[in-house]
Amino acid sequence: MGDNPGTLTHAADLPTTLLRLLSNSLVLGQTVPYLPVSSLLALGATSKSFKDLIHRTPNVFRHLDLSNVKSAQFEIANIDNGGNSWRNVQLDENVTEDDFYGGPLLHIFNTLRRRRILQDVQTLILDGLSVTSELISDIISQDHFNVRILSIREVQNLNPRKLQQALKYAIRPSRPAGTPKLKGLYFFNPKDATLTPNLHYNPNGIPGYGGMMHSEGAQIGAEWNQRSGDTLAQEMVHGGDRWYSSTGRVLAKAPSADWDSTILACQGIISFDAVLCRGPRHTPSLPSSQTSGPWYQKANYHLAPKIATHSIGGCFGCSRAPEGISKFRSSPLENFPLLAPPPLHASTTKAAKTPFMASGYKLLLRCLDCLRNRFCESCHKWWCEDCYEIPEQGHGAGSSNQWETADSAFGRHPEKNVKVHMGLCVEHCLVAEMMSGAGSNGMWG
Ligand SMILES: [Zn+2]
Ligand SMILES: [Zn+2]
Ligand SMILES: [Zn+2]
Repeated sequence: MGDNPGTLTHAADLPTTLLRLLSNSLVLGQTVPYLPVSSLLALGATSKSFKDLIHRTPNVFRHLDLSNVKSAQFEIANIDNGGNSWRNVQLDENVTEDDFYGGPLLHIFNTLRRRRILQDVQTLILDGLSVTSELISDIISQDHFNVRILSIREVQNLNPRKLQQALKYAIRPSRPAGTPKLKGLYFFNPKDATLTPNLHYNPNGIPGYGGMMHSEGAQIGAEWNQRSGDTLAQEMVHGGDRWYSSTGRVLAKAPSADWDSTILACQGIISFDAVLCRGPRHTPSLPSSQTSGPWYQKANYHLAPKIATHSIGGCFGCSRAPEGISKFRSSPLENFPLLAPPPLHASTTKAAKTPFMASGYKLLLRCLDCLRNRFCESCHKWWCEDCYEIPEQGHGAGSSNQWETADSAFGRHPEKNVKVHMGLCVEHCLVAEMMSGAGSNGMWG
């Protein structure tokens, strides 16, 4: 309680224990990220003591989530008092498209700046709002912003190309020392389910999607005792940990090629909720004069940088991967994506990347190009480049009966018998599919 000696003197005179409780900096720090900024400001307005507590304690406004703030949302019908002056902006014929779409947030930022709150914000959540690339450029580059972790998942009116340019400008070699302040950007994944308005909490406190709880509630109830309640709850709450699940696709759709090069350029400076594939075919290839070395290092197998979309376990043959399986805390932090939801109690990329213990700490992510014809989309078996060299078209296809077992898996002579056909492992899943008469939908179309 030593942080606010002045506050404590006043607190003794007040008939409130809340002030005493919150005057404990540990309690305050754990509590404020859960409170909307409007509640914090209302609390600060109740008395001189609360005003001191809210506005003089560091980090009270460190985590700012505006995604559910009505006046930040671009819905004219719902704009409340906070948006009134914004409505006037629209009447000005000189207003640009960026002013128009960025207006509601700009107004909030100006208010927060005037009240000397904006400078304290280090984690800023703008998911689902109308956010222009100009606004993000400001957040990244203007001195009055100190945002380290920014979340702009499912935002509207954002020009991705301009965002890429803003990011590349922020990390240019001639940038001022100590910039960019931004260290982590959530952009590629859906916003957190816990923030959606149709969220329902069941009596056990397990959040689920509104529709699902109604239509499938009975099924879930029946399965409840068979599955680990804790695991399911964690899966639902901490969607980001699916990255560690080794169950195939983790990124709903592959971002455009411009993003591949943007993430490459930002590597080591700004982290994202996606990472580049580290498959061996992306590393610079050997000169064509060199004939030794694994097949995948030859120039004609080289692949451009690409964002990883799939989480896989170790190779079915050798349990490993040519690039190595990343282990959290020992592998470079840049191998790991930011996990959802953005952390409440810290604004560092390390906190944002730390997986929950239950989901493990080993991570192997690949892009689709690296998995083509070597990953079974049904049972998720995968054969690495050291164990399996995909036969040339028309040579090995169909000769699937003579199996050499996994003994050939130690790299010197990668197996060339077809292991995956039409997205299914030949040995098990393809046979099973053919017996059942159904074809694979195919993630490769
Ligand atoms: Zn292998
Ligand atoms: Zn790849
Ligand atoms: Zn399979």
